[in-house]
Amino acid sequence: MPGKRVVFLGPPGAGKGTQAKQVVAKLGLLHLSTGDLLRDEVARKTELGEKAKGVMDRGELVPDALIIDMIRGRLSGARNGFLLDGFPRTVAQAEALAGITDLDAVVNISLPRDEVVRRLTARRVCRGCGAIYNLTFNLAAEESKCRACGGELYQRDDDRPAVIENRYDVYEKSTAPLIAFYSRRSLLHSVDGRLGSDAVLAEILRILGA
Ligand code: AMP
Repeated sequence: MPGKRVVFLGPPGAGKGTQAKQVVAKLGLLHLSTGDLLRDEVARKTELGEKAKGVMDRGELVPDALIIDMIRGRLSGARNGFLLDGFPRTVAQAEALAGITDLDAVVNISLPRDEVVRRLTARRVCRGCGAIYNLTFNLAAEESKCRACGGELYQRDDDRPAVIENRYDVYEKSTAPLIAFYSRRSLLHSVDGRLGSDAVLAEILRILGA
């Protein structure tokens, strides 16, 4: 049987990236994080990266056409299933995705605004392997290196308070309508992101029948 085709929805900071890393390791799916792909384009100073950088730093969305082009080719290579993390983020992206592939499940990880702000302010990311840490849960203030690869831990430019608020506004306006979009298509499953990371993972694996 081919692997599952899964989308993670939810506001920034809900735990999509953290959960995605564990779910793909367990189920052997291709992990496609549009945020990670874009940060890589920015770091390599590609044409797409140059176009995306300012938009990302302000917490706005990169234009749909650029995102869809970036994801289309990668999806066609995902024969053993995939997990999309951070895509789609608009109804136009969801419609384009529907034209490319069917889906098996959409998992919405919810988190209220005050908790998003609290978590993102405390988030640190490894420049080397992308591991995600949080000063509230699993990182001591004096730690500056990744435990997995020794890479430098840094705070994303868009994880600063003024940008975080804007990202949540953008989420509510552009991305939250996807909850109804996928609910109408009977694909939606919801998980409360305030549960601890282990409980959220167990719930996601149960939803995916793993
Ligand atoms: P993330 O790592 O998912 O929080 O994404 C970081 C930033 O990349 C977002 O705030 C957007 O500027 C941009 N981005 C990531 N995914 C998308 C998408 N599907 N559509 C538009 N912009 C995106």
